[in-house]
Amino acid sequence: MTLQTPIYLDNHATTAVDPRVLDAMLPYFSERFGNAASKSHAFGWEADAAVDTARQQVAKLIGAASPREIVFTSGATESDNLAIKGVAEAYRDKGNHIITCVTEHKAVLDSCKVLAKHGCEITYLPVAADGMIDMQRLRGAITEKTILLSIMAANNEIGTIQPIKEIGRLAKEKNILFHSDATQGVGKFPINVDAMGIDLLSLTAHKMYGPKGSGALYVRGNKPKVKLASMIDGGGHENGMRSGTLNVPGIVGLGKACELSQQEMSGEAERLIALRERLKDGILSQLDDVRINGHAEQRLPGNLNLSFAYIEGESLLMGLKDIAVSTGSACTSASLEPSYVLKAIGLADELAYSAIRFGLGRFTTEDEIDYTIKRVVEEVSRLRAMSPVYKAKQDRSQAANGKRS
Ligand SMILES: *Cc1c(COP(=O)(O)O)cnc(C)c1O
Repeated sequence: MTLQTPIYLDNHATTAVDPRVLDAMLPYFSERFGNAASKSHAFGWEADAAVDTARQQVAKLIGAASPREIVFTSGATESDNLAIKGVAEAYRDKGNHIITCVTEHKAVLDSCKVLAKHGCEITYLPVAADGMIDMQRLRGAITEKTILLSIMAANNEIGTIQPIKEIGRLAKEKNILFHSDATQGVGKFPINVDAMGIDLLSLTAHKMYGPKGSGALYVRGNKPKVKLASMIDGGGHENGMRSGTLNVPGIVGLGKACELSQQEMSGEAERLIALRERLKDGILSQLDDVRINGHAEQRLPGNLNLSFAYIEGESLLMGLKDIAVSTGSACTSASLEPSYVLKAIGLADELAYSAIRFGLGRFTTEDEIDYTIKRVVEEVSRLRAMSPVYKAKQDRSQAANGKRS
């Protein structure tokens, strides 16, 4: 089999729709086109039944006690906005303080920024060099006015998985709500909202082999029953939390994607970790001065983020047109600033600019990984050969070796 290029290794930005997901969706564009809110005829009932099934599939994957706790949205950006702004408004009487983290997705950070303009106080927790928040620091940041903790399950750039269960336990102890943007984590490693004490959870279909524009927010319905002010008002769909005619094909696709992830999660994680380690070892055994960004073990199976000292990530990308990777997240790649996530883990500008994110996924093959290793080693070596700084460094280390022998 010949290798098809470009090779897709940007699965944190989006994933291909699994053919089985597409098959499940197709009838809902054509013969089963009904509006799920039409209660008076079979077209509506059929669409409503499909939405019900999807609600159960999503609820099951994240361990929600009831499918009624799932609110369908247009994706994780909307879910994050609804969770954070919705809680801030509904709990205004209780307090105005929210704690989040500097490496969150922009959907969380920018929602907090807007709330700060309207009188909320926001604490942005720093992270350690491995991308983890510090639990003592989190505990110390909680005040009488704190109503919400919003900490992501796994980071979209460096793959670090936060100590979700401990955060959930702390939130319960302090009687504060806990929202987690679990967009990168859902379907990739086991997440259970009850066992982890999560009160609100954001997810999206297109990061787990479902369609774009379809996501959900889990909203705890019991112990405590979370109150949420709506952001989109209209026909009172989704228990009044999110009005608008439901995107039935998108919701069916999200449900099917959840079902498949649940069935295949453990085997898929194992396979991706093996491929990721192959990629890492292949590159590190042939190149020096490569830094691994993110946590060594507590990281997403398909994530590898590397800084190649002495070169610029952008130049490397230009040389690697046959491999689709990215320097930062897709959401911020329009800007020329180094990634705020890499800055937050303490990287100097040079190393932040020299980072490449490899995102492996369900359809990544071993042949593709081997090709990628070969091409990355070639390109990095070529660029370094042109770098005076790298040359000077090599001369210095050769001189030092000479002295020793
Ligand atoms: C992709 C992503 C989002 C945004 O999801 P959309 O469905 O594209 O709006 C939010 N948070 C994280 C961590 C993501 O990776």
